[in-house]
Amino acid sequence: MKLYNTLTKQIEVFESNEPGIVKMYTCGPTVYHYAHIGNIRTYIFEDILEKTLKYIGFDVKRVMNITDVGHLSDDSDTGEDKMLKAAKRDNTSVSEIADFYTKEFYKDIDSVNIKKPNIISKATDNIPEYIKIIKKLLDDGYAYISNNNVYFDVSKYPDYYKLSGLNKEELLVGARDDVSLDEHKHNPADFGLWFTNSKFDHQALKWDSPWGEGYPGWHIECSAISMKFLGEYLDIHCGGVDNIFPHHTNEIAQSESYLGHKWCNYWIHSGHLNDKNGKMSKSNGEFLTMKSLIDKGYNPLVYRLLCLQSHYRNNLVFSYEAMDNAKNTYEKLVNKISQIEDEKLSINKELVDSYITKFKDSIENDLNTANTITYLFDILKDDNLNSSSKLYLIKEYDKVLSLDLIKKEKKIDNELEDKVNKLVEKRNLLKKEKKYEEADKIREELLKLGVQIKDTREGVEIKWI
Ligand code: AMP
Ligand code: ZN
Repeated sequence: MKLYNTLTKQIEVFESNEPGIVKMYTCGPTVYHYAHIGNIRTYIFEDILEKTLKYIGFDVKRVMNITDVGHLSDDSDTGEDKMLKAAKRDNTSVSEIADFYTKEFYKDIDSVNIKKPNIISKATDNIPEYIKIIKKLLDDGYAYISNNNVYFDVSKYPDYYKLSGLNKEELLVGARDDVSLDEHKHNPADFGLWFTNSKFDHQALKWDSPWGEGYPGWHIECSAISMKFLGEYLDIHCGGVDNIFPHHTNEIAQSESYLGHKWCNYWIHSGHLNDKNGKMSKSNGEFLTMKSLIDKGYNPLVYRLLCLQSHYRNNLVFSYEAMDNAKNTYEKLVNKISQIEDEKLSINKELVDSYITKFKDSIENDLNTANTITYLFDILKDDNLNSSSKLYLIKEYDKVLSLDLIKKEKKIDNELEDKVNKLVEKRNLLKKEKKYEEADKIREELLKLGVQIKDTREGVEIKWI
């Protein structure tokens, strides 16, 4: 398996620390809002990576965090508590905000067939772990206290610039906007490990610590959660490219200073999803969610296909035109496949093996999923493959691609149709009463029954998927 490693800036043959086992950490969502489809693109790439590793025989142990503290998404001590702001926005409490958007995140990833990581851990559940690491960093001279806050001293970690490939001056330009505002740091690139003396007047969450009541810095959660569940040696760490600096850079500095040895061998990053105005981001407030795509009548798996059609490291520009093209491709694929009747023939071994080899070669080559979609069409067209061979191959490919290419047998009987019609009627009523949340729940219920609905001027359009 070959992967592009941001650390070495080259494609490398992947080797795990322990034979047959991959320890993989993936940065999770900040739960003060819905995940946008850019975030989902990164989670889809990570899912493909995990499934590819499994397909080629590794046992993958994967961990993800949930950032449920408002301060943990910014280095500066000047912004606002995003959870608190969201609680005000949605007229509810901080813990309800975290619970609500965590559940929405699970729904989103489920809708695009992303397998949940083995362990998902909330930032707020690991405060003692952060304190343990910060204490040692202070004892060993990697951190210092200034203005009652604890900072990491980047000058103590010589490889600080390795991951980003930027030098000190270049990083300062990037850091200046927010980081240099804090005059209590020794170097502008130093970052907070624990804040007790915050510029925030209103903080949603605070904890006791040896340095006083406060809250952890942004980066410590991922280092601590990863080490807690995966130990001192990590094989793969993923995220979007925006995480390279400062987040992953700082994770490496604090983890390796704490451990006294190299921490993670492979840093794999996905390109961004952009819209015509640039990078899609949660903080600028305008973004597309999976829900907004479903509301427009798209099957979420069309979005998965759109992502798989381009290489994960390239930026992808979202447009509805591209979505419609992916929709056509998806429908073509699924329709053609649904016409194959399994004649229960013995498979064409040699040819099947060659298509499996092609598939493996592509995904093992830095996850070239786009090629595998082309092969799927080749398989459908290949007259030398009998029906059972075609279906076998499609099932194999779908173990990684997870596009639900072979529809489970669905019997649309009278009972099911009746149930669907009643649910649609109920939803219409709820919408009339402006009970939109309940109406949305029914839409999700219908989706689970295999029915997609679209609101049109003429009424509700029902589509069996
Ligand atoms: P967040 O919830 O904003 O902390 O981001 C969760 C994950 O999504 C991280 O791995 C980010 O690097 C990634 N991400 C953020 N914005 C985008 C984007 N526009 N396209 C792709 N991935 C993104
Ligand atoms: Zn992280």
